[in-house]
Amino acid sequence: MFTWGREQFREQGASSAIKLIIRVVWSRTKVQLANKLLVPTKRCPCCGWTGRKFYDYIEVGYIVRNSVCPRCDSHVRHRAFYVWLVEKFQIRNKKGTALVFAPERALLPLWEEAAQLKVIGIDIASARGIDILANLEKLPIASDSMDLIWCHHVLEHVQHDRLAIRELYRVLREFSGELIVSVPVEVGTSTDEYGFADPTMSGHWRMYGDDFAERLAESGLTVETRYYELSPEDCRLFCVTPEPFFLCRKTGASYKTETASGRHR
Ligand SMILES: [Zn+2]
Repeated sequence: MFTWGREQFREQGASSAIKLIIRVVWSRTKVQLANKLLVPTKRCPCCGWTGRKFYDYIEVGYIVRNSVCPRCDSHVRHRAFYVWLVEKFQIRNKKGTALVFAPERALLPLWEEAAQLKVIGIDIASARGIDILANLEKLPIASDSMDLIWCHHVLEHVQHDRLAIRELYRVLREFSGELIVSVPVEVGTSTDEYGFADPTMSGHWRMYGDDFAERLAESGLTVETRYYELSPEDCRLFCVTPEPFFLCRKTGASYKTETASGRHR
């Protein structure tokens, strides 16, 4: 919380940062009270936490209700991906080398459980779980070397995302390699380039639209739209909304895709 507050002062300026911090503290105090007094109806699959409400995710430009796990900091997509990775993708049985961009704290234990995977954490800044410091636009990694690439809510932070996607294509192992990728998408729109990293939108360079899958496929990737495959009961329990993500391979075949539906961050 202290580090986050310091970042807000640097990125937003004192006035906006103070207002934001007051909103966050007030919102979290209310949630903590509800979790003490009310019967639990929510559960985090990543860490086992139970309670009545998740914390709201509050930024200067937007808010996502019932989003952040009070114990492990998982967001909506982390909880959904945890279940999908374990039950559908069978992550614990995967073998080879995995490149994990900006490893999320809530999923770190799961990567450790995948004992047959050599996991390489990569980010542009030093943090827990990082093995390589690098810019996604120019990866210091051999071509055709990665069996699995995990890249979620990263491309919107990259200035030249088409360069980055071409790098993902280059390092992915041909035929057997799997790239799992997602970004925030505004459904019913085309990608809106801001021209700068907008500090009120978590430093994003753009808001992607329905054309994101086509942008992936421009690199030569075979793109398949996938969903978490959670039951309505699990969606309510984990506070998850159905959202698309993309499973990509390097096959040389023409790409297939569907129109994404639902906005996600
Ligand atoms: Zn949790």
